Amino acid sequence: MNLDAKIPSGPMAQKWGKHQFDLKLVNPANKRKYEVIVVGSGLAGASAAATLAELGYNVKCFCFQDSPRRAHSIAAQGGINAAKNYQNDGDSVHRLFYDTVKGGDYRSREANVHRLAQVSVNIIDQCAAQGVPFAREYGGLLANRSFGGAQVSRTFYARGQTGQQLLLGAYSSLSRQIGLGKVQMFPRTEMLDVVLVDGHAKGIVVRDMVSGEISRHSAHAVVLATGGYGNAFFLSTNAMGSNVTASFRAYKRGAAFANPCYTQIHPTCIPVSGEHQSKLTLMSESLRNDGRVWVPKSQAVAEKIRKGELKASDVAEGDRDYYLERKYPSFGNLVPRDVASRNAKEACDEGRGVVGSGLGVYLDFEDAIGRLGESAVRERYGNLFDMYEKITGSNAYKNPMTIFPAVHYTMGGLWVDYNLMSNVPGLYVVGEANFSDHGANRLGASALMQGLADGYFVLPYTIGQYLAEVGPDDRPSVEGSEFAGAEEKVRGQIDQMLSIKGKRTPTSFHRELGQIMWDKCGMARNKAGLEEAIKKIPELRAEFWDNLNVPGENGSLNQSLEHAGRVADFLEFGELMCRDALQREESCGGHFREEHQTPEGEAKRDDENFSFVGAWEYKGENQTPELHKENLVYEEVKMTQRSYK
Ligand SMILES: Cc1cc2nc3c(=O)[nH]c(=O)nc-3n(C[C@H](O)[C@H](O)[C@H](O)COP(=O)(O)OP(=O)(O)OC[C@H]3O[C@@H](n4cnc5c(N)ncnc54)[C@H](O)[C@@H]3O)c2cc1C
Repeated sequence: MNLDAKIPSGPMAQKWGKHQFDLKLVNPANKRKYEVIVVGSGLAGASAAATLAELGYNVKCFCFQDSPRRAHSIAAQGGINAAKNYQNDGDSVHRLFYDTVKGGDYRSREANVHRLAQVSVNIIDQCAAQGVPFAREYGGLLANRSFGGAQVSRTFYARGQTGQQLLLGAYSSLSRQIGLGKVQMFPRTEMLDVVLVDGHAKGIVVRDMVSGEISRHSAHAVVLATGGYGNAFFLSTNAMGSNVTASFRAYKRGAAFANPCYTQIHPTCIPVSGEHQSKLTLMSESLRNDGRVWVPKSQAVAEKIRKGELKASDVAEGDRDYYLERKYPSFGNLVPRDVASRNAKEACDEGRGVVGSGLGVYLDFEDAIGRLGESAVRERYGNLFDMYEKITGSNAYKNPMTIFPAVHYTMGGLWVDYNLMSNVPGLYVVGEANFSDHGANRLGASALMQGLADGYFVLPYTIGQYLAEVGPDDRPSVEGSEFAGAEEKVRGQIDQMLSIKGKRTPTSFHRELGQIMWDKCGMARNKAGLEEAIKKIPELRAEFWDNLNVPGENGSLNQSLEHAGRVADFLEFGELMCRDALQREESCGGHFREEHQTPEGEAKRDDENFSFVGAWEYKGENQTPELHKENLVYEEVKMTQRSYK
């Protein structure tokens, strides 16, 4: 397997500019002879599809929601980073680059991260020009707030609805191109396979989710913008529909899957309240700007709170442990997510949790309200406080929120080179679906930045090189044997799932898999647990194919059938995640192996042996996949033990 990252030569700050100049261009008159498939209409997909069409390419865009503007990106709350330095507080492209590499615990590719920081500034201009209503200062300049892992304020936001507002911007650009006939939009359509012709990605097979019709689509290139796979854990902050199917099926066709074990567990989510739940709710990281995280110093006090005998306000100031401020005085409550999550777990493991299950800590706004006034806090976070009250029944202006870490984002994804092309020629991967920029831990507000950087500013340049090389005639007919074979496979799996007529629903398998993943491959992992999971998951998978019950049929809307197909992929993919976590005998970022920690309980990397991207190659059904390594070379940033103290 060829894992050539194709990093341009030259000084870091000049790589992207030089590369842009070196890339082949497609003559404007020729662009209309090309067809590009974009799967996904979240921030990455919508921005890519709109920009490619604006350039003159013909685009087919697919999504499984009923409208492109309902993609999961709409859920993003807190903000988007950019190195504008509007605050004059010392930010720069280099600092954003440095913070991101450090935040990712030195497991990302430097050149990609540097480019991300460079184009971050263009994103804000583009979105502001589209009319995205970013928060503004009194004088009219765009406002910023702080997010974890940074000591500057560089996060642009639209109250707690940044993702929604950015998506409306991208969606309006996309709609313009739909109106002009340059983008053909296929909502409610699920990609179920990617088709390779002579080793190049040349099309996809999809299912119309309303009629059940299966169809084939060919193109000169295929772009996957299909989001993350956090729902492998069943409970996560992701939209219920988020899944790994598109990426995983591409993996089965030969695309390398990189760092699948890198999962982000977000520290500020509403704690699990019972077994009925199918989703967890994020409380935006922006709340850590003003909220203070604490638990009681003593287990006895915590126990009284858990039993309802004491309230937070009964605990005297001196009896509270603001553990992040105590342990990390320079970053305090704004340490990165992995650090904040691990510390919350540690406090709860010590018996100091403050909700009935013992799995919850406080996020307290008493100080901020005292200092700024309730109206200022309401102005900044009003909709988040309202959402919290709707879900928990508690008023966070009066009582502290209770929070606990939950699965939120996946740093792993399909391997891509500097051009965002996977190892399968013609198959590009953008947004959360690729692995490229966040290493082992993503900093808050950097996912939106990456998705839009990929879609608006990187892919539209880099894809031209491939298209220019293959030429406009290289678009196969959908009647070819490769398309027929892929369609047959898709139909076969659907028929099989419908015919089992067993006793268990797709949800029950998904829930059981999620529990295994959370227990064995969650916030803390160890060798014995991972080996146990690698044994249990195939057993569960075997039961799935023996005892699954999918009511209804293929010829109409059938959400159970859709879910079954996604769970089938999670049941294979979960094992891959565990294998990856098992081989990575170190702790880094969100990957915490209990065997590898410093005396203070921090993640202990092993740079000598694990400074690589782990990219897995599919070897066939029930075969052990093969690990390939892309070594990470740091020219600009010195690898050190991460410290936020
Ligand atoms: C609650 C929450 C809050 C967040 N807040 C922030 C924040 O404040 N700042 C930040 O930077 N990040 C945030 N994130 C992360 C960020 O929202 C995501 O990483 C990002 O939006 C992903 O965008 P995307 O375009 O890659 O994928 P998505 O938005 O997930 O879009 C995926 C698209 O692919 C389509 N798709 C998937 N599979 C298929 C298939 N098989 N066939 C057809 N179509 C398919 C879907 O229909 C959809 O259109 C948050 C995440 C969550 C869960």
